[in-house]
Amino acid sequence: MDLSIVIPLLDEAESLPELSVWIEKVMKENRFSYEIIFVDDGSSDDSWEVIEKLSAANPNIKGIRFQRNYGKSAGLNEGFRAASGEVVITMDADLQDSPDEIPELRKMILENGYDVVSGWKKKRYDNTITKNIPSKFFNWVTRRMSKIKLHDFNCGLKAYRNKVVKSIEVYGEMHRYIPVLAKWSGFKKIGEKVVEHRARKYGKSKFGWRRFVNGFLDLMSITFVGKFSKRPMHFFGLWGTIFFLLGLGISLFLIISKIIDFNYGLTNKPGFYLALTALIIGMQLFLAGFLGELISRNAPGRNAYMIEKKLGI
Ligand code: UDP
Ligand code: MG
Repeated sequence: MDLSIVIPLLDEAESLPELSVWIEKVMKENRFSYEIIFVDDGSSDDSWEVIEKLSAANPNIKGIRFQRNYGKSAGLNEGFRAASGEVVITMDADLQDSPDEIPELRKMILENGYDVVSGWKKKRYDNTITKNIPSKFFNWVTRRMSKIKLHDFNCGLKAYRNKVVKSIEVYGEMHRYIPVLAKWSGFKKIGEKVVEHRARKYGKSKFGWRRFVNGFLDLMSITFVGKFSKRPMHFFGLWGTIFFLLGLGISLFLIISKIIDFNYGLTNKPGFYLALTALIIGMQLFLAGFLGELISRNAPGRNAYMIEKKLGI
């Protein structure tokens, strides 16, 4: 199979028929063998009924329905597990991404040797203040942290070599960092292509102001996980040791002072409390590192999402 098109969606019933007609048209024109995998992330409108209808009319259309809303990352993750095309395309369901970009993206993977090609919404049709400015900042930080030269990490339209999607795990809200995950898995050729972006036609955006908070926390955790997940002791152990030695040093100083001068008051000295706190913090950090080591050694493969139904998979 040439292409798998993975489309996570939440309450996008109105967009789906138009989107699948458009994709079918592009596939036909290019004579691609393909599958469309709609991942219904617990929609409460009739998205799943629409997917069933579309699938009955075209066997290339497949579906996965989650029991509840798990988030876009979970949707992509399950779509990736099911994808069998040589090249895997992801796109949003809301008609903001254009299927006309697919042939060129596929070509970049197969002919130019890219492992991942990310879309770049150079000209965006979103609200400027709440999306474009935070997104510039987000991309800048992610670029510096990951050393991957992309302008638009969070673009929903991306193309992957099949083996890339099989070797990464998209959990939490990590869909914003898939190129980073791919790089960690050892895929180095990551490119980008300017893609056409369109205004949302139906429905509304699913990510509100919480995207800032979540995006920021995920950025911290991905930076940390990237650096230390395989060796938590290098972080916690270091700081634990520093604090512990500090506490020990102050304690020794106090003890020696007491030995020299029996009337030396211990408990009314700031050093006493400093030593106490530093020793406790040091121990805590050390323990956290130790537990982290144990956990990272036994880390399970992947999250389990409850799938309610499957169609054609
Ligand atoms: N989406 C999803 N689960 C969620 C939130 C969003 O599958 O919990 C889908 C949504 O239906 C759309 C894509 O993710 O297909 C991108 O979402 P949206 O268009 O709301 O984001 P924006 O374009 O505003 O960043
Ligand atoms: Mg959108």
